[in-house]
Amino acid sequence: PLALRPELSALAPYNSGLTLAEVAARPGVTRIAKLGSNENPYGAAPGVTAAVAAAASQLHLYPDPSGHDLCAAVAALASVTPDQVVLGDGSEDLLNVLARALLRPGDRVITLYPSFPLHEDYALMMGAEVERIDLTPEGEIDLSALLAAVARPARLILLSNPMNPAGLWLDPAALDHLMEAQHPETLLCIDEAYVEYSDPARYVSALERMAGHDKPLLVLRTFSKAWGLAALRIGYGVTNDTELRRGLDLVRTPFNANHLAQVAALAALEDPGTMAAAAARIVAERDRVAEALRDAGLRVLPSMGNFLFFDAGQPSVDLAEALLDHGVIVKPWKQPGYESWVRVSIGLPAENDQFLQALAAARG
Ligand code: PMP
Repeated sequence: PLALRPELSALAPYNSGLTLAEVAARPGVTRIAKLGSNENPYGAAPGVTAAVAAAASQLHLYPDPSGHDLCAAVAALASVTPDQVVLGDGSEDLLNVLARALLRPGDRVITLYPSFPLHEDYALMMGAEVERIDLTPEGEIDLSALLAAVARPARLILLSNPMNPAGLWLDPAALDHLMEAQHPETLLCIDEAYVEYSDPARYVSALERMAGHDKPLLVLRTFSKAWGLAALRIGYGVTNDTELRRGLDLVRTPFNANHLAQVAALAALEDPGTMAAAAARIVAERDRVAEALRDAGLRVLPSMGNFLFFDAGQPSVDLAEALLDHGVIVKPWKQPGYESWVRVSIGLPAENDQFLQALAAARG
C-alpha cells in the first residue's frame, strides 16, 4: 500500500456523520432539527442574498486574491490596518494554514481541553506535540495550569474563546493574565468563532487587547456562525505580527477566499443589526434549554456560545443515535474523558423543543 505521512495514521476524518438525506430517510422522521454544527438557524441578513445573486454574473472570473475590500471592512471593524488581516476558506482553512506556516516536528502546542478537534489535528499533522489543559473536576477552565504551561516556551498556544465544545470562556482578567504569562517566543492564537454570542459584561475579545500587546497574537473569526454564511466558507485572521502575516499569505492558496464568499461577507457586515438580533434570540433560547436540561437532572456547563455541552450519563454516541430516530442531529463528543458528553446547538424554538422531547423519549 501507498505510504502516507506517519503523522496521519492515528487521525480520523472530522465530521464524518450521516448526511441530511440519510437522516430524513429514517423511518418515523418527519422533520429534522440540525443541531450538530453550531449554525445560525435564522440565516444571513436579507441583503446577502441579493449581493450573492448579483455576483453570480462573475462566476467565470477569479476572485480578488488580496480580498482588498473585505480586508478593509474587517480592518475597520477591528480597528487595525488592512495589512493585518488575512482571509480564509472558513476559519478551518486558517487553522490549517497556520499549522503549515508555523509548526515543526516536536514543537510544543498548548490547547484547552476538551478542544475543537481541528486545533489538535492540524498541529499533529505537522508532527507537533499537543499539550492539553483539561478542565478542573468542577468543570471550569484550569487557569493556573494554563498559566504554568504558557510560562515555558512553546511554539503556539491555540484555544477557542468562547470554548468549543465546552462553551466556557476566559473572563477579561483571565485573558489579561494569559497574555501577560505568554512567553515572547510563543504565538498566542485565540479562535473567536463564537464571539458574537458573548456577553460584553463578562467577556473581552483579544482584538481589544491587540493594540497594547507586544508579543505575537493572532485572532481568528468566522462568518459561518452568527453571520449565517457557513455554506460559503469565509473566515479571517487578524494579527499584530508582520512576519506571521507574511507566512500565512505565502502558505494559503492564492484564491482561498472565493468571490461569492467575499461579496456575501461584505454585505453581511453592512447589516450587523440583523446578526445581533438573531444572536440575542439564540442566547435567550440557550438559557431556556440549559435550564430544561438541568431540570432533567443533567450536568450542563455554562456557555457563552450558541451551543450547550452536557453530560448525557451514557455513551454520547448511543444517545446521538437514539436522537436521530427523532430527526434530531447533535454532536456526540468522542475525545478521551468526554465520551458521555454531547454538544447541542441552539436552533429555532421549535427545533429546541423537538430536541428536548426527543431527549426525554430517548432517556425513557
Ligand atoms: N473554530 C471553531 C472553534 C469552530 O467551532 C469552528 C466550526 N465548528 C471553526 C473554527 C471553523 O469554522 P469555519 O471553518 O466554518 O469558519
